[in-house]
Amino acid sequence: MSNTVPRPGAAIIAVSQSLDAAGLVPNKSGNVSCRSAGGFLITPAGVPYRDLVPGDLVELPVTGKPAASGPRPSSEWRMHAAIYARRPDAAAIVHTHSPRATALACAGRGIPPFHYMIALAGGDIRCMPYATFGTAELAATAVRGLEGRRATLLGNHGVIAIGGSLEDAHAVAVEVENLAGEYLAMLSAGLEPQLLDDDELARVIDKFSDYGRLKR
Ligand SMILES: [Zn+2]
Repeated sequence: MSNTVPRPGAAIIAVSQSLDAAGLVPNKSGNVSCRSAGGFLITPAGVPYRDLVPGDLVELPVTGKPAASGPRPSSEWRMHAAIYARRPDAAAIVHTHSPRATALACAGRGIPPFHYMIALAGGDIRCMPYATFGTAELAATAVRGLEGRRATLLGNHGVIAIGGSLEDAHAVAVEVENLAGEYLAMLSAGLEPQLLDDDELARVIDKFSDYGRLKR
């Protein structure tokens, strides 16, 4: 398995290291995966992103458990498996603990549609209730938070973003952090965001259709 990792491995490593360099996955947090011939390929547990090589990545079936031996997948493999099982439109998944979005997640605060770029996420970004990391409960919570969306905040935890490609999932995760920073800036200035209405949001979502059709 690990010695026949297909080409997406290099792309997963590039995205992981870019997230790390941008400070979006502090202290080895987060994980990245994409679909592969045998299911999906995911970053391993406990390996610093800068040291990752394709052989460290772990391939898992969408329905099933990791092998008893060999490299250990990220502790959040259940969350990735559950999303791939339920979302045919997800070709890749990026999970971060990006600081500003995580700050909102720790306040139980989702992100309202105050900027048109939120259309990348498919609309307002929900904040889901807390569930313990690595559990089936968190996996189910993430799937619910992503209903009709490409991103959700995981309460007291972080962000999960999906896309029709690894690049798209990466772009969504980065944009969630941008939006969180803008929202926090408004909140700390005591400003009330003026929200885009549903019609305008639908128009922008349509203009972003090259990000792949969202499963609703
Ligand atoms: Zn996490």
